[in-house]
Amino acid sequence: MPTIKLEVVSPDAMVYQADISMLIVRSIDGELGILPHHAPMIAGLLPCAMRVKLEDHEELIAVAGGFMEVQPDKITVLASAAETAIQIDPIRAQKAYDRAKKRIEEFNSAPSKHQDIDMNRAHLALERAAARLKAVSGKR
Ligand code: ATP
Repeated sequence: MPTIKLEVVSPDAMVYQADISMLIVRSIDGELGILPHHAPMIAGLLPCAMRVKLEDHEELIAVAGGFMEVQPDKITVLASAAETAIQIDPIRAQKAYDRAKKRIEEFNSAPSKHQDIDMNRAHLALERAAARLKAVSGKR
């Protein structure tokens, strides 16, 4: 089966490295599936649980956002933060999710009273937390 090298790099570490069959990511242009020998490209990534397909199983990697560079034999994901399922603290992710959701609900219930809430920031925090919870649950 043809494979392509995947490297996921965060500011702190090389998070993941493997020869994979396919990568599915959420980019700013929508969902992208990358197979071996894909044409070179660069894409901006949104918070997501990336699906990494290997020969006989699939893994989920949480990505907070960043960039992906594709070459025919290698995919490099440069993420602002990224974790494999085992690296994720689910309690922390759930707290971040609840915090962001509460902010969004507070704002929506009385926007004029909550001008201090940055909704874009709250939505991104919610999406990062949702991606972590998805990666840790193993359910896509
Ligand atoms: P929090 O509010 O819990 O910090 P966040 O979405 O604001 O969440 P980020 O800014 O995306 O966090 O990440 C900051 C650092 O913390 C990164 O190194 C990231 O890998 C790590 N991190 C964030 N959430 C978790 C988690 N639930 N489990 C493990 N590491 C995490």
